Amino acid sequence: MGAGFSGLYMLHRLRELGISVLALEAAEGVGGTWLFNRYPGARCDIESIEYSYSFSDEIQQEWDWSETMPAQPEIEAYLNFVADRLDLRRDIRFNTRVTAMTFDADDAAWTLSTDTGERFVASFVVAATGILSVPLEPDIPGMDSFDGASLYTSCWPESGHPLAGKRVGVIGTGSTGVQLIPVVAREAGHLTVFQRSAAFTLPWDVRSLDSAELAELKAAYPEIRAAQREHPVGAARLSAFSLLLDMLVQPPIKSASREDQLRAIDERGVMGALNWGDIFFDIEANRMAAALYGEAVARIVKDPDTAAALVPSHPFGCKRPIIDQGYYETYNRDNVTLADLRRGPIREITPTGIATEQRHHDLDVIIYATGFDAMIGALSRIDVKGRDGRTLREVWDAEGPTSYLGLQVAGFPNLFIVQAPGSPSAATNFIAALEQHVEWIGDTIGHLLAGGYRTMEATLDAQREWIEHTTSLVEPTVLAHPSCNSWYNGANVPGKKRRYMAYTAGIPEYRRRCDEIAASGYPGFVLA
Ligand code: NAP
Repeated sequence: MGAGFSGLYMLHRLRELGISVLALEAAEGVGGTWLFNRYPGARCDIESIEYSYSFSDEIQQEWDWSETMPAQPEIEAYLNFVADRLDLRRDIRFNTRVTAMTFDADDAAWTLSTDTGERFVASFVVAATGILSVPLEPDIPGMDSFDGASLYTSCWPESGHPLAGKRVGVIGTGSTGVQLIPVVAREAGHLTVFQRSAAFTLPWDVRSLDSAELAELKAAYPEIRAAQREHPVGAARLSAFSLLLDMLVQPPIKSASREDQLRAIDERGVMGALNWGDIFFDIEANRMAAALYGEAVARIVKDPDTAAALVPSHPFGCKRPIIDQGYYETYNRDNVTLADLRRGPIREITPTGIATEQRHHDLDVIIYATGFDAMIGALSRIDVKGRDGRTLREVWDAEGPTSYLGLQVAGFPNLFIVQAPGSPSAATNFIAALEQHVEWIGDTIGHLLAGGYRTMEATLDAQREWIEHTTSLVEPTVLAHPSCNSWYNGANVPGKKRRYMAYTAGIPEYRRRCDEIAASGYPGFVLA
């Protein structure tokens, strides 16, 4: 299921192993999340050279990246190139959304029903349905009453939407909002940003790759990929993650003098404010860094009230680090207003705009950049009935987002999930993580078929132990602090059980464990 980054490689890998495979894709084309998130400014926060498949030297040599960090149209084009290059489309059914799937224990097979009215029977199903593929629509009173245009970043119209001269409101200041806001500000007549939580965001230059540099990079692919493979986050070059990792080896802010602290922001601005070794583990140190961050923001943003409102109140590190191009400078523009929802939340959306507790903002366009039901959203929306007729949604509602190894859920035999809760996924370069998953899943299915096994299923004990282990890894960090609310722990979705959903010991350690499990006969799984 799915023809995004994961599904395309899974299809190719299974084909290579000589296994009969068909991909079902809800959209009209390949790309998954990178197809739908076409909003202005959409861009990856990892370098293109690393945010790309490593499994084929032909592909990496034939494809030319034009920028250090790829923008959405280029990633979409890249995935189309891969689909054509590997002739994948002939085994993909587009415009076909899986709505339900049921496991039949006697036949040891899944029957999948689709919105096209078809049924498919498969011995094994791989869910490549994405970790950030289900948009979270906020539940704000009056949303349907708005007479202007309501746009969602996660399903942006392919032909775009004219914003020139319009009064535009953006709700949401996560990675998406922070990317979108400077671009919209340049086009709109007036932009109002509705901010509930301020973001920690670090300035980043994205530049073109000229042909000489690209040739050099391509020649260095063996070393680049080798370094990536050994790197905990699967990205050894500069990325949003490397900022966090660099921080860990810096001196503590708690023992830094005021002069040291000021020097840090004199030299590196907001980046310097956060570059301390203790802030990931010590909430007090984290708050000191946030205060220093506020001082650095105030040096950029001219209006003192706006600058103060832009200082986050959650710990740095608990949300994904954001990188931006000119975010804070955008608030110095005459046509940009920040509506700080901490001072007065949104009361309702009216036919003519947004009413907060403080005032009404007249708008022509409202853009929702309000995030995703991450990790479990896609499979929770499919009626996935396992061995006992229990759905995955029921399991996750009752037990929280759980799985064994981030690959399988007990009670759901022969269903493999690319990047389930408890996988490195969101805490790493997603592409490096998914390649490992896809290869392990492919090899495992090959092993099952060759050995004449009909089913493979995670045990409840192994699942429990795995989640206890993944949870224990984040316990000593600010990620476990009660003020740390993010999509990583489900806090952004009302009613979702709170649990940090990624495995944080890094891809190499994760790969070692998965390989060891495969080599020793798959302990923690029952092969029947
Ligand atoms: P997000 O980080 O969950 O941010 C959603 C934003 O919407 C938050 O500021 C949230 O506020 C706000 N929000 C949600 N409901 C609201 C409501 N009812 N009223 C007011 N504000 C509301 O989602 P995202 O920005 O789409 O990013 C999700 C992830 O996608 C990222 O962390 C990243 O992994 C990935 N991504 C990556 C890139 C990139 O590579 N550069 C770009 C975009 C996305 P609260 O924080 O208060 O809930």
